[in-house]
Amino acid sequence: MALKKVLTIAGSDTSAGAGMQADLKTFQEHNTYGMVALAAVVTMDPKTWAHDVTPLPLDLLDKQLNTAISIGPDAIKTGMLGSEEVIKRARQAYDESGSEIFVVDPVMVCKGEDEVLNPGNTEAMIKELLPKATIVTPNLFEAGQLSGLGKLTSIEDMKKAAEKIHELGSQYVIIKGGKALESDKAFDLFYDGKKHILLSTDKFQSSYNHGAGCTFAAATTANLANGESPEDAVKHAKAFVASAIKNGWRMNEFVGPVDHGAANRIEKIEVYTEEV
Ligand code: ADP
Repeated sequence: MALKKVLTIAGSDTSAGAGMQADLKTFQEHNTYGMVALAAVVTMDPKTWAHDVTPLPLDLLDKQLNTAISIGPDAIKTGMLGSEEVIKRARQAYDESGSEIFVVDPVMVCKGEDEVLNPGNTEAMIKELLPKATIVTPNLFEAGQLSGLGKLTSIEDMKKAAEKIHELGSQYVIIKGGKALESDKAFDLFYDGKKHILLSTDKFQSSYNHGAGCTFAAATTANLANGESPEDAVKHAKAFVASAIKNGWRMNEFVGPVDHGAANRIEKIEVYTEEV
């Protein structure tokens, strides 16, 4: 049977743990046919690992989107888009594609913990992407920004934020408590408009986890493309990324990526679910 075609509209992380590299590796691990429309290239200074983001010209993004859409993606995922204009193009591309699966990873480039570098991007995601989203996958910080609730520190806060984000139009919401929530387990909260499901795994090392968020959203996208229900898609994505994190590795003195293939190659991790 032909593979499902999955398109990511995202940035390139030259260190290859996150961004479109994480997406493609994850799509491959899920037996889907991964495609990319690249919005920007992120490079790192070898001496300091300071990040430099170079956006691609918009007409080049448009040409990629035209090509990819002509191939007929079964699902589309967004990652780091970088500007309001690119966010708009991503939404238009989804509309034109005829695809019925749209996974929005609302990546916000942050300086420190609490400052959004470009608040206009958050507004654009709310206006352009959330009303069309099948599912949105914010981390704790991004969920605080999208919901307008600010800093979230508990499961109760996550439930409130999920309800607010659902009202903005996304059919399903998963908020990653993950590394940011103070807890002994790695908790994520799934909301379908009616019930809240708490997903958990053990918490593993967090020194080498670069790319965890992208990998989780990409796995969710591939699972949906392969016909899983949204609840199964996030549960299996969480198992996939938990193994990737547990087997993360030191790349250099600055960064360590997750091992995107660990779930298939090394070990499976169990995910627990309960209604809360
Ligand atoms: P982001 O990279 O977008 O900030 P997170 O790293 O918080 O996202 O979460 C990505 C996924 O990895 C979530 O499912 C989260 O629960 C999980 N996760 C994050 N840190 C850990 C950890 N130390 N152990 C196990 N799972 C984790």
